[in-house]
Amino acid sequence: MHKNFKGIEKTVYGRGSFSQLGEIVETQRNQNDKFMLFLVDNYFKGKELANRIPAKAEDVVMFIDVDQYEPTTEQIDKIRDDVKKSNGIPAAAIGIGGGSIMDIAKAVSLMFTNDGSSQLYQGLNLIKKPGIYHIGVPTISGTGAEVSMTAVLTGPEKKLGLKCEWTVFNQVVLDPDLIASVPRNWWFYTGMDTYIHCIESENGTLNNAYSHAYAEQSLKLCQEIYLGDKSGQTAENDDKLMVASLMGGLSLTYSEVGVCHALSYGLSKILGTRHCYANCIAFNHLEDFYSEGVKEFKTMITKHKIDLPQRLSKNWTDAQITAMAKVSYNLPHMWNHAIGTDWKDKITVESIEGLFRRL
Ligand code: NAD
Ligand code: ZN
Repeated sequence: MHKNFKGIEKTVYGRGSFSQLGEIVETQRNQNDKFMLFLVDNYFKGKELANRIPAKAEDVVMFIDVDQYEPTTEQIDKIRDDVKKSNGIPAAAIGIGGGSIMDIAKAVSLMFTNDGSSQLYQGLNLIKKPGIYHIGVPTISGTGAEVSMTAVLTGPEKKLGLKCEWTVFNQVVLDPDLIASVPRNWWFYTGMDTYIHCIESENGTLNNAYSHAYAEQSLKLCQEIYLGDKSGQTAENDDKLMVASLMGGLSLTYSEVGVCHALSYGLSKILGTRHCYANCIAFNHLEDFYSEGVKEFKTMITKHKIDLPQRLSKNWTDAQITAMAKVSYNLPHMWNHAIGTDWKDKITVESIEGLFRRL
């Protein structure tokens, strides 16, 4: 069986395109209870962008702090319940922020039409009904959350996405102006998520001409942004990073991620380490699996003087390492892609513990 994926329905790309958000949301105004739900990264509270949000009096604008923790099932349920109680069902949910906010917008949009807790739907194709119209406006690029068919949530039992066709945004607005203010370390870590998506997508059994075409172009852009003569956080590179992120996401959609993401999920679930940062911590030690990619990654780290902590595992207990290894081991689709269908002959919980001990 070949994968059969749904893409974003509409995409607007270009500097200043955020100004078109108003006319875009108005096309949906008559849906449901005829108000908009804007979910906005708290960073923008009091900033110029907040004044440009095209909200009318009846609309709800929620600023959300994404620094304390990554999106949780409890958080999604609460947003849905509070908004439903006070205003009803929105015409559309609009997420303005990074991967965290975009995942919140995707998940909330699904939970307005699916009963019970979002915990019930963590997994593949468990969602029963299409969500409300949802729009993604990235303000930091790299995760590919703007294009992916998953909304990653941490629940009491698992860190797993609400993954189905209806998760994909109906519309995205890609305005490179919005990522200019990203702090340098996040610009690096989140951008590297794209780089790692491509390296992992390329190096595995599911790689194919379709995923390769996206990865090749995305990698080329990443190399220009992080390694080229004109590398660095410039307007021209921001234009490229937004496209690289989208293409990296598309590449892994048609292929799969691998060893780094398997380890990163373990770090995030057990220690709460953030996705892109966790990827960088793990990828730095995966030369056995991705030799060229890791070499290039290290050059980028040096070039941009990025601090990546070493010897973290010295402070972890054996129980924590085993717990992380178990989380990683339970991602068979990633190991299957990275190692092959006989991965269980080569990878064990113990061998994954060994990988964690390198960090
Ligand atoms: P984020 O949304 O967590 O934000 C990172 C930091 O950057 C925050 O402090 C935020 O306030 C700040 N920020 C965002 N935009 C800014 C701007 N323009 N200027 C200044 N600061 C800004 O970052 P992320 O790395 O994009 O997202 C990580 C999340 O994405 C994780 O929760 C992860 O699980 C999820 N994720 C989802 C997918 C998917 O396919 N759905 C893929 C990878 C990761
Ligand atoms: Zn990722």
